Amino acid sequence: MVQKEADFPVARPSSDVAPKWVYYFSAVDAEGGADHKNLLGGKGANLAEMASLGLPVPPGFTITTEVCGIYYASGRQLPDGLVPQVERALEKIGQETGARFGDEENPLLVAVRSGSRASMPGMMDTILNLGLNDRTVLGLARRSGDDRFAYDSYRRFIQMYGDVVLGIDHTAFEDILDNFKNLNGYSFDTELGADEWRAVIALYKAAIEDALGKPFPQDTGEQLWGAIGAVFGSWLNARAVTYRRLHAIPDDWGTAVNVQAMVFGNMGNTSATGVAFTRNPSTGANEIYGEYLINAQGEDVVSGIRTPQALTARARREAEDPNPSLEEEMPESFAELRQIFDVLEKRYRDMQDIEFTIQDGKVWMLQTRSGKRTAEASIKIAVDMADEGILSHDEAVLRVDPSSFTQLLHPTIDPAGEKELLTMGLPASPGAASGRIVFNSDEAEHQKKQGHEVILVRTETSPEDIHGMHASAGILTARGGMTSHAAVVARGMGVPCVSGAGALRINEKAETLSIGPKTLKAGDIITIDGATGRVYVGAVPMRQPQLSGDFARLIGWADDARGLAVRANADTPKDARQARSFGAQGIGLCRTEHMFFDAQRILAMREMICATNEAGRRSALAKILPFQRADFIELFEIMGELPVTIRLLDPPLHEFLPRHDRELEAVAAELKMPIEKLKARVAELSEFNPMLGLRGSRLAIRYPEITEMQARAIFEAAAEAEKRLGASVVPEIMIPLVAYRREFDILAGVIRSLAETVEKETGIHLDYKLGTMIELPRACLKADELARGDDGAEFFSFGTNDLTQTVLGLSRDDASPILSAYSTQGIYEADPFVSIDQEGVGELVATGVARGRAEKPDLKIGICGEHGGDPDSVAFFHKLGFDYVSCSPFRVPIARLAAAQAAIRAKLDSA
Ligand code: ADP
Ligand code: MG
Ligand code: MG
Repeated sequence: MVQKEADFPVARPSSDVAPKWVYYFSAVDAEGGADHKNLLGGKGANLAEMASLGLPVPPGFTITTEVCGIYYASGRQLPDGLVPQVERALEKIGQETGARFGDEENPLLVAVRSGSRASMPGMMDTILNLGLNDRTVLGLARRSGDDRFAYDSYRRFIQMYGDVVLGIDHTAFEDILDNFKNLNGYSFDTELGADEWRAVIALYKAAIEDALGKPFPQDTGEQLWGAIGAVFGSWLNARAVTYRRLHAIPDDWGTAVNVQAMVFGNMGNTSATGVAFTRNPSTGANEIYGEYLINAQGEDVVSGIRTPQALTARARREAEDPNPSLEEEMPESFAELRQIFDVLEKRYRDMQDIEFTIQDGKVWMLQTRSGKRTAEASIKIAVDMADEGILSHDEAVLRVDPSSFTQLLHPTIDPAGEKELLTMGLPASPGAASGRIVFNSDEAEHQKKQGHEVILVRTETSPEDIHGMHASAGILTARGGMTSHAAVVARGMGVPCVSGAGALRINEKAETLSIGPKTLKAGDIITIDGATGRVYVGAVPMRQPQLSGDFARLIGWADDARGLAVRANADTPKDARQARSFGAQGIGLCRTEHMFFDAQRILAMREMICATNEAGRRSALAKILPFQRADFIELFEIMGELPVTIRLLDPPLHEFLPRHDRELEAVAAELKMPIEKLKARVAELSEFNPMLGLRGSRLAIRYPEITEMQARAIFEAAAEAEKRLGASVVPEIMIPLVAYRREFDILAGVIRSLAETVEKETGIHLDYKLGTMIELPRACLKADELARGDDGAEFFSFGTNDLTQTVLGLSRDDASPILSAYSTQGIYEADPFVSIDQEGVGELVATGVARGRAEKPDLKIGICGEHGGDPDSVAFFHKLGFDYVSCSPFRVPIARLAAAQAAIRAKLDSA
């Protein structure tokens, strides 16, 4: 996509006096600071900040991001007023360093470095040693007394400038150098002396002249302005534009340009250059971490040309590296760096990622910024910094990205372990799992009952596989994307899943899978890694999740701060236990239909649906009742006094209809119905659009005996659980897919009369709450009616999955191809099924809350869609005054942290 250049906002000079476009920084005079990030970019602002802290920063200046806007608004022209400001600043650097830009005796050399607000790959690479030409290089050689150093610097400059500003591919220079080394019998750059570099320089210059038809620029002013223009020009190069689009960075931020006096890590064996983290970015341990190279410059450390050495003696010993660490090689410089790191951590109150250079024993700081880190490190650093008194508990809670928890809540593959890769698919649901291959869901359940861990391998999954997916340690499919049935359900369950492994050939009949020539059969062990999409042969060593220690402490601080309660969506005892162990404060959604998918029960369910009269339905329901009651008793016992919200049956009917011959035969036998008649019945029940068909309250109104059975199961279970627990159990019964008050009243009537019946039968007084799921636009609009009066809904739970589906008119099951087109074209900012559409769907939610609470100020309000585990959505529900969010058990810790962050941010905003 082409950026219209005129879109840039322009700071036009309002008078003849040009605005301040250049900010100077040095230990003597720092005009900017860390609070100037928007104007000076991250690198420039932090250089100024370090300078003002008195740290050793080579003097320099920053040309502001505003100039970038002007550059584009005026057809890639720099404003005239900039020239004198740059010249003055250059002179000032010269005064501080005792050198002069372009001077043949004592030349000042500079680095030209890009830097926008957010660190951003794709921008122009840094140019070092700018200001060298055929004459100044002689001056540099004389002043330094080191010919080799001078010519090494010059060849680096020509190469960088040729590549970055003149547009000659860097491989051209690399080829020249490789050839030269081969011809002359050298293996390492360090073996080349001044004469050799002079020869290489001649070859470089000839190549440039060949390519451009003009010589390498000898005029240092032309060099400088060429480099400045190239930095601004790189803001709109394709790589940078793509990166910004992917990371939602606005194009009109612009980049700044930093021009800074060079310091030299390539001045022999008392010089070096390196990178450091003030703490270990992978574990978070409070230890310096990083690498350096002696007699090197710039990106040598990360380029892989030479192997860098460890910074600390400890790291060197651990890596069994024979080369000395910086701590051992240059103890004084190391000690100084250690002190500087301390100052920076205290100032920025965060772990820093640092670039430094040592010139002839003297330390210079070239960059600092907050360092990227793993989820584990992020937690450890936040907790440690709170313990060290650097952060408050609230601040520590704000430091950790809730989504990163997904990495921690599952076992992970041990990176050091041996493994044989089988194939790759999509990383559909994080976590790693090993188990026996099974090819169908019944087998998965069967094996699981016998105590085996299984991986369910299917071409794709369908709602009928729910019980098999539940029973599996992991799921692998050959087809389907990140939002396929397998992926969505697996994520919801917290079961690791690799989907869309396209190279996989599955033969369900023969019970084999093959990848190319390799074939595995049912019972063979494989391992999947749902975080990377990798599939391995055999069992691979794993690491178990650590939910104790720092993690537990941080979550504890989050619990102190949050207002929203966090419940879990849990359908089975296993889910409920998992939810409790992750700190859920109740069940916000128990989907009773999942209880029907169990192999023994689905037959009775099918009977019930296919029965042609009430008597047939009642006899089928009677078979289901004991199962439901037993499930609820177990659930109530696990949850103790915590609230449990049970939703009445809600699935689209087609999920239960018998399809395969085997299924049809079984149902026909039970119902004593000829198979042809049953097939006709199934055809009669089939719907064109089941999502909008006979489900939820509609199903219950048409077949009230289903609600009777469910209500009975719930109340009998509550009575039994009360006896067992010796404490009161207050089920919250939720009627799904309600749009009209009358629907609610009819079903509430059925439930209330069942409560009375069970009370009479058991002699136990039953406490319960009746509420509704708000998942249709009409329910949001008529929320006042639904809540009105003592016999109105006592609670609302927003079912934001269906609400999103019905407000957008977009089927969740068919959304994935649409989603990808819509996000690349910027129609959806985020997947609306993952992060709630705050403006559209959100407005209806807000309306529902307001209208419901206007009738009933103490109306309890929660949300139980997938959005309950999405941090942005959680913040939104916090703002709307919800009482709780409910999400899948594995997302409970995420929601706890997100709810705390929402509360802390709201507190900060109002302060
Ligand atoms: P990036 O944003 O890609 O990290 P930098 O502008 O930080 O680019 O420059 C990359 C490297 O160039 C630095 O890590 C440092 O080694 C070197 N460098 C940058 N400025 C200077 C300077 N003034 N003197 C010496 N080396 C420098
Ligand atoms: Mg870099
Ligand atoms: Mg850098």
